[in-house]
Amino acid sequence: MSGIQSNLDGQAHWRSALMDNYGTPGLTLVRGEGARVWDADGREYLDLLGGIAVNALGHAHPEVVRAVTEQISTMGHISNLYVNPVAVELAEALLEIAGLGATAGSEANGRVLFVNSGAEANEAALKITRRTGRTKIIACEGAFHGRTMGALSLTGQPSKREPFEPLLPGVVHIPFGDIDALKAVVDSDTAAVVLEPILGEGGVIPAPDGYLQAAREITKQAGAMLVLDEIQTGIARTGVWFAFQRAGVMPDVITLAKGLGGGLPLGAVIGVGETGDLLEPGQHGATFGGSPAGCAAGLAVLRTIARDNLNDHVAALGKDIAAGIEELGHPLVSGVRGAGLLIGITLRDTVAPAVAKAAERAGYLVNPVAPDAIRLAPPLILSHEQAEGFLDALPTALDSTQKGN
Ligand code: PLP
Repeated sequence: MSGIQSNLDGQAHWRSALMDNYGTPGLTLVRGEGARVWDADGREYLDLLGGIAVNALGHAHPEVVRAVTEQISTMGHISNLYVNPVAVELAEALLEIAGLGATAGSEANGRVLFVNSGAEANEAALKITRRTGRTKIIACEGAFHGRTMGALSLTGQPSKREPFEPLLPGVVHIPFGDIDALKAVVDSDTAAVVLEPILGEGGVIPAPDGYLQAAREITKQAGAMLVLDEIQTGIARTGVWFAFQRAGVMPDVITLAKGLGGGLPLGAVIGVGETGDLLEPGQHGATFGGSPAGCAAGLAVLRTIARDNLNDHVAALGKDIAAGIEELGHPLVSGVRGAGLLIGITLRDTVAPAVAKAAERAGYLVNPVAPDAIRLAPPLILSHEQAEGFLDALPTALDSTQKGN
């Protein structure tokens, strides 16, 4: 261990040992339990960001700890040169919750590829789209799909892209939520339209009603794939297993990561129907993809969400939090958006970093996802009492950024 003694000490060590791509964080977190975390100075916080929508079951959940401990004590890694029963079980579970499971007498209507992160899932999805023989891809302005070169090519945020250009050719970015723009650009050269159901890193901006359905129809007409990036919205984050289920559409490709591994690095691509057959032996791979330990964590996550009816809990708690924020009637808050426990609090001023800092001083970790928006993506096991504590503390955090305070 590094022997870090305090938050300040942690910052000094981070600054000297780690590259500066994240800047130097202010807090050193050393322990977590459920939705609570502790810093190196011994202070407790309610973690309303959950490792950026990753810790679906919170920290140190007994089911995840047990599953990973058992698996790592049995066999932690085997590569993909051998059948990995845990990966098979998780793939079947994912197909099942996506509505693609085997029905009596027939095979599942899709197949899964495991990877290690969100960016890697989108890279694989891109390669799947290349198997159509078409190379034009449509993505959205403001969207975030990851930082590796292919995923970055899809990401619609110029500040993240420009230092690394030229990126993958053939990617066209259009305004998010604009059905006419989508209609105008999708044609017979289009391999795929890649969308987030809710822009996560882009500021928690939900697709307008009817957008995903229109995207489904437009892509179908053009013989193009609809790829939904559910890396942030999937695995019960919005109160359903996948956000596309609320919209009632079935995409051709679904990418997942974040909440799937319950804190372990795990990503997945689901190819729906024949899309799941496009990658042939030798065309893609990842040494760690679908590691037994990661998949054991994934299975524990899915089983616990199902056992504890967390989808219903997330839907109800998300509504309560959104209503609670609206009811505050705070002059700085212009609205609340998102779904389930992916919540954006929009502000009338560009003071989100200061609000987040003030919340942190009060013992709540939130994320200034945009200059004028705060993101909440807490563990799905967050309790109503914990949420109420945050709602009680929020006005003071908001007040502290107003002139004169
Ligand atoms: N796609 C979406 C929607 C994301 O929110 C993220 C990460 O925030 C990614 C892709 C990239 O995932 P990762 O950071 O695991 O590469």
